[in-house]
Order: sequence, then structure tokens, then C-alpha cells
Amino acid sequence: MDSATRRILLVEDEKNIREAVTAYLEKEGYWVSAVEDGKEALEEFSRSNYDLIVLDLMLPKVTGEQVCRAIRDVSDVPIVMLTAKGEIEDRIIGFELGADDYLIKPFSPRELVARVRALLRRVHSDREPLREEMAYGDLVIDMTGHKVTIRGEEIDLTASEFKLLTTLARYPGRVYSRMELVEKVLGYDFEGYERTIDSHVKNLRAKLGDNPRAPRWLHTVHGVGYRFENPNATGAAGLSD
Ligand code: CA
Repeated sequence: MDSATRRILLVEDEKNIREAVTAYLEKEGYWVSAVEDGKEALEEFSRSNYDLIVLDLMLPKVTGEQVCRAIRDVSDVPIVMLTAKGEIEDRIIGFELGADDYLIKPFSPRELVARVRALLRRVHSDREPLREEMAYGDLVIDMTGHKVTIRGEEIDLTASEFKLLTTLARYPGRVYSRMELVEKVLGYDFEGYERTIDSHVKNLRAKLGDNPRAPRWLHTVHGVGYRFENPNATGAAGLSD
């Protein structure tokens, strides 16, 4: 199992949770480094390479929010956010900060392990491209290099945003329901997570500079979900180069 080589940085100030989560992840074969506060987290992150971060939102010294922002400035490493409050606002904040997934306390360590596994699997399966490059007008998606550019300028996307964009862009014109996108993008089937897709789409549009009122690429299908369009296509939806 290749998970033995995956390195996880766990940032959690509550000792009991830190120890339980570490034990479960290590039992799964992950290599875990656990730290207690946001300052240590940033130091550790800059010192070493990690495949995934499990990040508590409420932390002493430097908050989880600040840690998430700082990491996102330099890296698209998958981040799972832990939040004690569980209000919808917090979930949305987590995604706006660039987290890929979140769990609300109290959570079962088993569920966290399942989320971590799903997230790592989908990040790494993205690297087996269906096609090497997709070009739609100014937008170029380089599957091999895991890179998105607009007019040659690289757009920094999180793992979830990249997965969402490539899922939609593979089949221009095809309508995806939110639930379908939850399964494909978040990697698990769970009702009630459709709103997180809206949040990811919102972030993705902002990064691509795609106006929701007059979209070039990401179109809302009211009451259903989303579809991707190739702005350069004439007639039937086709792939342009
Ligand atoms: Ca905490």
C-alpha cells in the first residue's frame, strides 16, 4: 500500500484529539507529524514536505485560518479543516480559505481517516490524465503538469478546484448535478454537501475571472447544477485546441 509513504501534518491543540487522530492515521500506514499550534505548524510546513494537512480551525498563537491562508499562498497541498462550531458559516469560511474538506467536532477518527484516504486518492488519481491538455479559448488545462493557465498566466487552484474544473471541462456541454459533483470532486457520497460545490464553483469563477452573470466557461444550470462550455466551440460541443 502506497499510503505508507504519505506524510501528514496534523495541527491540533487538544491533546486527546491529537493523540487519537495520530494513532488512527499511523495505524493506516501514514507517516504523521503532530503539532500543537499554528506557529509550529507553519514552521514544520516550511521545513518539510507533506502530502496532506489536517488543520484545526481554533488554535492558539496563529489561528487555523491564518495557517490555511499562509499555506495556500505557497502550496496546493490538500487541507482537511477541523472545526468545533459546525455552523454553516464556518464550513463556507473553510472552503473560501482554500480547504479541500472539513469535519465538525466531535467526529469519529474513522471518518477522518476515510476522508484523508479519499482526498489523497483523488489528488493522486488526477495525475493519470485522460488527455494531456485541454484548451478552451484562453483557458488551458495541463493534466500532466497539473496546471491551469489563462493567456499563459498560471492560476493557483486548490486540489478540489482543479478536480471540479477538470471534471466539468472533460465533457463540455454536459450538465452535472451538484450531487454528482460532490461524488466526483469530494470523493464520497453524502447528502447535504451540495452547497459546498456552490462554494467551490464560486471560488473557481473568481480565480478564472469568470463572471457568473455572463460566464465564458462555468455555467449555472438553475435547479440542477453546472456545466462547462467551450467559448470557442461552433455548433456541437467539441474540443478545441
Ligand atoms: Ca482547537
